[in-house]
Amino acid sequence: MACGSELLSPSPIEQPLAPATACDEKSAKALQFIEEVTKNTDSVQERVLEEIMRQNADTEYLKRFDLNGATDRKSFKSKIPVVTYEDLQPDIQRIANGDRSTIFCAYPISEFLTSSGTSAGERKLMPFIHEELDRRQLLYSLLMPVMNQYVPDLDKGKALHFLFVKAETKTPGGLVARPVLTSYYKSDHFKNRPFDPYNLYTSPNEAILCPDSFQSMYTQMLCGLIMRHQVLRVGAVFASGLLRAIRFLQLNWQQLSHDISTGTLSPKITDPSIRECMAKLLKPDPELAEFINMECSSEDWERIITRIWPNTKYLDVIVTGAMAQYIPTLDYYSGGLPKACTMYGSSECYFGLNLRPISDPSDVSYTIMPNMGYFEFIPHDDSSPLTLSRDSPPPLVDLAYVEVGKYYELVITTYCGLNRYRVGDILQVTRFHNTAPEFRFVRRKNVLLSIDSDKTDESELQRGIENASVLLKEFNTTVVEYTSYADTKSIPGHYVIYWELMIKNASRPPTNEVLNQCCLAMEESLNSVYRQGRVADNSIGPLEIRVVKNGTFEELMDYAISRGASINQYKVPRCVSFTPIMELLDSRVISVHFSPAAPHWTPERRR
Ligand code: AMP
Repeated sequence: MACGSELLSPSPIEQPLAPATACDEKSAKALQFIEEVTKNTDSVQERVLEEIMRQNADTEYLKRFDLNGATDRKSFKSKIPVVTYEDLQPDIQRIANGDRSTIFCAYPISEFLTSSGTSAGERKLMPFIHEELDRRQLLYSLLMPVMNQYVPDLDKGKALHFLFVKAETKTPGGLVARPVLTSYYKSDHFKNRPFDPYNLYTSPNEAILCPDSFQSMYTQMLCGLIMRHQVLRVGAVFASGLLRAIRFLQLNWQQLSHDISTGTLSPKITDPSIRECMAKLLKPDPELAEFINMECSSEDWERIITRIWPNTKYLDVIVTGAMAQYIPTLDYYSGGLPKACTMYGSSECYFGLNLRPISDPSDVSYTIMPNMGYFEFIPHDDSSPLTLSRDSPPPLVDLAYVEVGKYYELVITTYCGLNRYRVGDILQVTRFHNTAPEFRFVRRKNVLLSIDSDKTDESELQRGIENASVLLKEFNTTVVEYTSYADTKSIPGHYVIYWELMIKNASRPPTNEVLNQCCLAMEESLNSVYRQGRVADNSIGPLEIRVVKNGTFEELMDYAISRGASINQYKVPRCVSFTPIMELLDSRVISVHFSPAAPHWTPERRR
C-alpha cells in the first residue's frame, strides 16, 4: 500500500523526523533502528569495538601489539597505533601477492576494493570480506525510509539513476580488485534485490552491468527517455556523473531520438544482453522522438532536466566536498531542484547517512552510524597540525564525545581488519541527533585538484611540473612559478595549470608543439585515477597549460599582501579559485596549450 501522501511536502524545507506511518512496516523499522542506535551511540560503539577485537584477535596484525585477548577500549587505545595506508602497504601487498594467512581479518579476504585515494600513483587496495556486504546493505536500506519523510509518493514512479561498473583487475595472487560500487552492483545483494517500490530504477541491470561506458550510458539514457513520465528523481553517485550524463545527451540525442522514433536500437550497442532486454522495451514512439528533437535541438538547455523529466522531485547526487563546485551548473540544468546528499561512505567503510536529505547543500550533515565500525577523531587545526608519534599516543576522541563546532580527522576500525586507520577526511561537528554527532564534510586532506573522483595532491602536481619541464630544457627554458585551477565550466571539467616561464634564449622560445607535449607529460605523471578519468571514463578533459606574462606571480603576491597577507609568510598558492585572482591570471595569459592525446592507462597496476 502506498503511504506518504500525508507525509511532508517535497519543498526543500527542513522538517523534523516524523514518526513512520503504520502502512510501511519496513520503513518504520528502519527509522526505529536509526533512533535506537543513535540513542545509544557510545554503548553501540563499545559493542562494535569488542566484536571487531574478538573477531580478529588471532590475526597476525593484532597479535603484534600484545593485547592478550583484551577487547576493551583502554587496551585498544593504549596498544594499537594510529596508522595510514603507507604503514599497512607491505602487509596489503602480501595479501595481493597471494598470502592467505589471517593477516588483518579472521575472515578470508574475498576481494580488494580499489579506492579513489592513491598511494604512489596507484589506487589504494582495501581488503574486503564478503560478510561486510550485509552491513553496507543495511545502510542502503535506511536511505529511502528517511527520504520518504520529506518527499511523498516516491513509490509512484522510478529513479533515473546513472550507475556504472568500472574495469576490474586481478592482483598477482589472484584476488579481484575493483571499485566499491562495481563490487556492489555485481553482488547478488544488488542483482537479485527484492522488489521495492521505493527503489525502482529505469536502468535495467544489463545496462548498469555493461563494462563499456558508452553502451551503458546510452542504454540508461534511452530507458530514462522512454520512461520520462515515470521518473521521480534523477541522479548519479556524484554531481560530476550527472553532468556527464547531460553532456552525453547533448552529444547523442539525435541517435537516441532516432531509436525511439523507429523502435530500433543503434548498431553501436553490441552487448547481446542489452540488445535482448531493449528489444522488449523499445517500441516506435514518433511523438516522444519529436518531443526530444524539439527540446534538445534548442540552443537553450536551461532547466533541461525538468523539461524532459517533468515529475522530477529532486536530484539524487552528492554535492558535498569536491562536488560543491558543480552546484551552479546543476541548478542551471534543473531549475534549482533540491539536491539530496543521502550518504557518506568510502571503500574502507560506509560511515553514515544524511537524516535531512532535502537540506540546502551548505547545510548538509551526515550522521555517522555507530554500528558501521568503530570511529575515533583526531582534533584538527589547520594552523597547528598534530604530529602523531608512537611514543606519545594522540588524544583521539570517541564518536559520542566530539564537540559541536570542532574539526576532526576521521579514524576508523573496521570489521574488514583496518585498525585505527586515518581515512584522510576532515569533518566538522554541526549538531547531534540523539547522542550521535552529525558532521559536515569539510574536505579531504591534501587534495589540491579534483574534477571527478580523481584527487591530485601538491606533490603529484609538483612532480608533473618537473617531468614536463624536462621537455623545456633544450629551449633553455624553466618554469619559474606555477599554480593550478580545476575548471568545471566545461563538461567534462579539466585541470588548468598557469605557468610563468623564464626563457633564457629569447630568439628560440619553446614551440607550441613542445608546450602541448608538456601538457601530456604532466598528465602521464598524474595518478592512475586521473588517467582512468581521462582515458576510460571520459570524466576529465585534456589538461591545459596557460602561459602567463613574466611578473604575473609577483603581481599575485602584491595582491595577496594588499589583502593582508604577511610578506614573510607568503607562499604561492598551488591551486586557486578566488575570482579576482583568476581574473588577474587570465588577463596575463600569453598562450594556451592543451594535451594533444590521452595519457597511458590500463586497468593493470603499474606496481
Ligand atoms: P572511495 O574510497 O574512492 O570510495 O572514496 C571515498 C571518499 O570519497 C571519502 O573518504 C570522502 O573523501 C569522499 N566522499 C564519500 N562520500 C562523500 C560525501 N557524501 N560527501 C563528500 N565526500 C564524500
